[in-house]
Amino acid sequence: MLKWSDEATAELKKVPSFVRGMAKRAVEDQVTRSGRSEITAQDVRDGRKRHISFAEDKEGPKKTKIEIVRCETVSEVCPGVACLKAFNERHSHFESYGDDTEIIGIFTCGGCPGRRVSRMVEKLVDHGLDVVHLSSCIMLEGDYPKCPHRKQIKKNIESKGVRVIEGTHH
Ligand code: SF4
Repeated sequence: MLKWSDEATAELKKVPSFVRGMAKRAVEDQVTRSGRSEITAQDVRDGRKRHISFAEDKEGPKKTKIEIVRCETVSEVCPGVACLKAFNERHSHFESYGDDTEIIGIFTCGGCPGRRVSRMVEKLVDHGLDVVHLSSCIMLEGDYPKCPHRKQIKKNIESKGVRVIEGTHH
């Protein structure tokens, strides 16, 4: 049974929350392989440097971070290519963004009435989320009807302090 020293636990808390679980597992594997039973702060620093630093945000100018929410029903027949193409080529609802912009997540709403959205947005706020785009499949009438829950979904996202743009590629 591995024991975490207090210093090691404190060191682990310095790792950003979104990679902390990964860091913990990497450190425990590393110490187990070395045949020791107590984890030190130095183990955490070593493990973080070796296994996690690639995933941590580097210091630098803040980028605009975007997330796309898609309709769960439509996602059965749509791989999301048009949304990503519109972002990559900066057209339609993405045309005002510069190079200092990145998509940090794409997820489906979780099915009517969009129960997954609030929880996923909350997680992404921890990663600096600025803007959510509701995909065009949520907003437009076509092979599928407009999402009847779109107004509430938008309100829920905005209540987390995140801007909402209605649409992606149309
Ligand atoms: S809540 Fe709206 S976006 Fe989500 S599955 Fe239902 S219709 Fe689609």
